[in-house]
Amino acid sequence: MDIAIVGAGPAGARAAWVLARQGARVTIFDGSHPREKPCGGGVTGRALALVADAIDATSCARTPIHTARFLRLRTSGASAGQSPDRTSLTRESATVDLDRGALVVTSRAEFDAALLHAAQQAGAALEPARVTDLRVDAAGVTLETTRGRRRADIVIGADGANSLVRRRVARPFRRDQLSIATGFFAHGVTSTEIVIAFVADPPGYIWSFPRPGHLAIGICAEATAGHASEALRARTAEWIRATGIARGARLEPYAWPIPSLAARDASELTVSGTRWLLTGDAAGLVDPITREGIYFALASGQWAAESLLRGGFASAYASRVAEEAGHELGRAARFKAGFFRPAFINVLMRALQQSAGVRVVMADLIAGRQGYADLKWRLLKTFEIGLAWRALTSSSSRPAL
Ligand SMILES: Cc1cc2nc3c(=O)[nH]c(=O)nc-3n(C[C@H](O)[C@H](O)[C@H](O)COP(=O)(O)OP(=O)(O)OC[C@H]3O[C@@H](n4cnc5c(N)ncnc54)[C@H](O)[C@@H]3O)c2cc1C
Repeated sequence: MDIAIVGAGPAGARAAWVLARQGARVTIFDGSHPREKPCGGGVTGRALALVADAIDATSCARTPIHTARFLRLRTSGASAGQSPDRTSLTRESATVDLDRGALVVTSRAEFDAALLHAAQQAGAALEPARVTDLRVDAAGVTLETTRGRRRADIVIGADGANSLVRRRVARPFRRDQLSIATGFFAHGVTSTEIVIAFVADPPGYIWSFPRPGHLAIGICAEATAGHASEALRARTAEWIRATGIARGARLEPYAWPIPSLAARDASELTVSGTRWLLTGDAAGLVDPITREGIYFALASGQWAAESLLRGGFASAYASRVAEEAGHELGRAARFKAGFFRPAFINVLMRALQQSAGVRVVMADLIAGRQGYADLKWRLLKTFEIGLAWRALTSSSSRPAL
């Protein structure tokens, strides 16, 4: 059986590694390497553990993260027509310690290259070509590539958020299933701290992830929320200026889509058919709160490969994705609106400053160790959030998580 994998990001490389190690005939199509992907580059402990059998992630350029700083900047007196010097900036901040290995921030060029190299060492072939079209019929798969036509028995779509494979075998993502992440790479500055700065509009946060040699700073908004990419980037630039986080840096802009599924979509994922499987971003597997996608890309690449090796793959893979990712991403999507409400962020910021218990829960969330099924209960069980939440929910505003 010939297996074609379109895309050599984490999903495609992991699928290829698992398949090739078992002697399957695998060709990966991707002409982009070496390349840096627009990404925070945050790789959680669970993702590192998953690939420890294939790569030595310590040999990739990476920044071990020691702390996460939660921040909120509030401008007051900034109403229209008021002079900027009447504006005052209030800064609230709380720092969470992360244990060794909870999160590293990698160069995606190096991390992805290591995964691809491991797959090639295991026996997968790489065609450095872009797939320009694709047809699936009863007899197999035809791929049109920049190096000519190729045939395969099965195709794995691991070609990211704009997946051509997805567009040909299923439906493309609707606009309401995508977020746009935009911001700057701030070259020449780095640190060992990630910064998560809550903002009310769009509901979410601006992040700063210190990659080796630069900070990846960005903001994310739902594609249908009506925020122009330029306006979001200007907002990020303003935040960079206000915090002084990247003084003297050369700012390189970027923008890239991230799948961001609603709970309903996460429970009805489209991931496989008779001769095809979709993995990683192409399948929509990204946490809508933390934006962790690398773990889900790696894991789904592995599940796709294991399902193929066992035979009867289409339904087995769909069930595994639903069980191991779909339910969790659905819970995250349901949680999201409540999580980013100003009332909850108020409570959370205060609790992060005062409660070691809440800081531990947030450290686990960042490391990918805290599921959403019991996140709410773990937070409410802490004295500070429990107390504040009871006060909030007994008032008229009744914010819901
Ligand atoms: C700004 C931003 C910040 C993020 N930060 C984080 C983070 O800190 N941590 C985290 O876990 N996740 C993060 N994510 C999400 C993460 O980047 C993705 O979830 C992850 O890269 C998905 O891996 P993948 O293998 O599915 O796809 P990708 O990594 O996108 O790889 C797809 C590959 O397919 C190739 N390809 C595409 N089309 C074709 C074609 N037609 N033919 C051949 N090859 C093709 C591409 O060149 C690419 O190499 C972030 C995303 C963005 C946009």
